[in-house]
Amino acid sequence: MNFKKKVSEMLVSKPEAIFLLNLLFDPLDIKRHSQQYKKRRRSDLIKQSYGRKAKIRYVPPSFHIYITFRCNLRCSYCQWLLQDKDAFDNAPTMSVLDFNRILDKFGKDIGTIALQGGEPTAHPEFSEIVTSAKSKNFRLKMSTNGTLIKERINDLKSIDDLNISLNGLDYESFERTTNGTRKQFDKMMSGIDLLNAQKIPFTLSYVLFEENLSKVQEVIQFAKQVKPTFLNFSPGNAHGSSSLTSLVSSSPAVKHFLAEFISKDDFPFSIHLPLILNPGSETFKKEICQYPWNKVYISPTGDISYCCHLPFNPEIGNIFKGYHFNSQGIINFRKSMIAHHLSEDCLFCHRRFRDNSAATFDSTHRKWILPPDLSDDKISKEGKNL
Ligand code: SF4
Ligand code: SF4
Repeated sequence: MNFKKKVSEMLVSKPEAIFLLNLLFDPLDIKRHSQQYKKRRRSDLIKQSYGRKAKIRYVPPSFHIYITFRCNLRCSYCQWLLQDKDAFDNAPTMSVLDFNRILDKFGKDIGTIALQGGEPTAHPEFSEIVTSAKSKNFRLKMSTNGTLIKERINDLKSIDDLNISLNGLDYESFERTTNGTRKQFDKMMSGIDLLNAQKIPFTLSYVLFEENLSKVQEVIQFAKQVKPTFLNFSPGNAHGSSSLTSLVSSSPAVKHFLAEFISKDDFPFSIHLPLILNPGSETFKKEICQYPWNKVYISPTGDISYCCHLPFNPEIGNIFKGYHFNSQGIINFRKSMIAHHLSEDCLFCHRRFRDNSAATFDSTHRKWILPPDLSDDKISKEGKNL
């Protein structure tokens, strides 16, 4: 097989081809997707010299399908509300028919489906959507605000990667963050208990800004009680908010937080710490985001977005109107990314950096795996002196 010829036939420009080739052979990416590759289209698998397998991902392997833009909360950091404060009013939902159309058309190439929103469990036909995807043997991931766990408990058993996004450990902070009611807060807490009672594995995530770093210890204590399989502190993108600050390594508060955190190794679960932006680093200056290549984001009406952070726009394409992952809009966006002509959105977005740029605590071996920026002890030493 003339592999290079095949790739170049599928791609629209030389820089894209070079980039995608690098991306395809990224061992970390391959490891992450290898289980899915094994299951699907063995004929598309190409043996590499180091003995692993990669797949030509002309169709992005990760489908993020926004099944609804409805949500029962109004979080202060919500990217949709920051873009449009009325985003959830009369918001559209995707019909089961349309959801199935996507699966039927691209099914053989899809690795993972992420059900997104809004709040995915608020979709009136959530059960039908989950049942349909699982009957076709797709791997499902989903993050929920946790307020509808009880109503959806039977469906949640079928989600392969279920994450609960914690929005406060007491009603006052929950209400401040989400504008939710006490009843919703109580339902979120009892829902987490129900997951445990029914032995449904879940991860917990908590969005960090500089303003809520002091809550981290409380989150750890809470996690020790409810026993998630993994605790993920996600970096908040403060774009569009004047009251929230993204985590930046030059901040004394952030350095102090990091130094204290990575000095401990007695956590009973694995932890992922958010990448801390360091505008002075080479990584910050050079790294480009892979999302426009390896993921596709589809709104309830089929419109496409470049990523999970930027608005949906029919001019990029619409999945129900022939979008083929290489419209002029997405090509131009990829070219700007390769040339590092980044908008402010991308420049200060944590998602531009690879997952392995953040610190991870491995609970099995009780050790921290630190990215280069941290492993030289720089932040640790500086932080302890604050
Ligand atoms: S739960 Fe999610 S979608 Fe709903 S308001 Fe909060 S951040 Fe936005
Ligand atoms: S860097 Fe952020 S805003 Fe830019 S494409 Fe990636 S995810 Fe989207």
